[in-house]
Amino acid sequence: MPNPSLYDMTLADVEALMRGWGQPPFRARQIYRQLYINLADSPASMTDLPLALRERLLAEVPLGGLRLVRTQQSADGLTRKALFALPDGAVVETVLMLYADRATACVSTQAGCAMGCVFCATAKLGLLRNLSPGEIVEQAIWASRELRAWQGTGDRGQGTGTDDPQDDGGRWMADSPTPVQQLSRISNLVFMGMGEPLANYERWWAAVQRLHDPQGFNMGARSMTVSTVGLAQGIRRLADEGMPINLAISLHAPDDALRSELMPINDRFPITDLLDAAREYIEKTGRRVSFEYVLLQGRNDQPHQALALAKLLRGHTADGANRGVPLLCHVNLIPWNPIPGAPLGRSEYKRILAFQQVLMDYGVACTVRVERGVEIAAACGQLAGSMQN
Ligand code: SAH
Repeated sequence: MPNPSLYDMTLADVEALMRGWGQPPFRARQIYRQLYINLADSPASMTDLPLALRERLLAEVPLGGLRLVRTQQSADGLTRKALFALPDGAVVETVLMLYADRATACVSTQAGCAMGCVFCATAKLGLLRNLSPGEIVEQAIWASRELRAWQGTGDRGQGTGTDDPQDDGGRWMADSPTPVQQLSRISNLVFMGMGEPLANYERWWAAVQRLHDPQGFNMGARSMTVSTVGLAQGIRRLADEGMPINLAISLHAPDDALRSELMPINDRFPITDLLDAAREYIEKTGRRVSFEYVLLQGRNDQPHQALALAKLLRGHTADGANRGVPLLCHVNLIPWNPIPGAPLGRSEYKRILAFQQVLMDYGVACTVRVERGVEIAAACGQLAGSMQN
């Protein structure tokens, strides 16, 4: 791990640093405010601090650990991807998705990934290393700065400038590229970038707490979603945290044989164990979980597989009897995004809809994920840090 940066520090850590430097206690709060509310990109711009302190910060403590190498954006400008280099040379990617009324950042928790899912580009890298809390936090800050810059450009976000309350300049349109809301920072955060968050639990959780901290970034727990490959012990641990962040579990197959082919982790946590952990999570938290299901042509997208999935989630046991309790859940179908060299195909859209219909007919809530960023390889499972080699 590189030197801790300011983004690696809690408010208490910054307070200790200031004490050590003989500064008055309120300096720490000023710095924290600069980092998480003003989104300062350098101590040099923290102009409420004395010059000597700014200079000392600049000289002695890195602000962050990520160096922006490149940004790319989709043709409509609404999906933006950043490639960052870490001090030790590893790279990670972050995606910002802009909507009329919200902005979602998708952040990475590891450089590479050890889980080996056959359909995912990140898996091809293997695990390079865990990200520090600061390296995770900083991605959300980058996305917020990027959002702020976008909102500040041209005539976006300000409508027509008339006083007529009926004249909304078309800003109400759900798919309008023009923001209806001016946001001070990203509104949603998904831990669905590179890596497996629950395999880097402590650092990832420290990042969640940092971003949640009402004295700083103040992101609501319900606005954050973690996606896991299905590490049962991590799901149980999360259930005990008592913080209502959203949980998404990558399921991708209705039976162990197929799931193990697609996701090697299934050998360690087969479907029964995983669903037991999910049930415990639901019981403890009272919250609904999402199951992600990526659709691969001819592999897991057949109607009988949809039915098997529906039965599983409605509480049928392995012998087919309906004795169990339905899981409080929702299924999110993800059209597979192509990655180079994978001998897999993307399901035709009509097959995806048929799959969805079977689930819904069985009483399982189900949506199809709206795609973003395929053309800049920023969509689900396409993040691989294209500068890696
Ligand atoms: N490690 C976490 C986060 C992965 S990315 C997890 O396994 O859940 C978020 C989602 O995208 C996961 O459900 C993942 O399985 C899925 N995914 C991976 N590669 C994909 C691809 N090429 N196309 C579509 N979805 C993909």
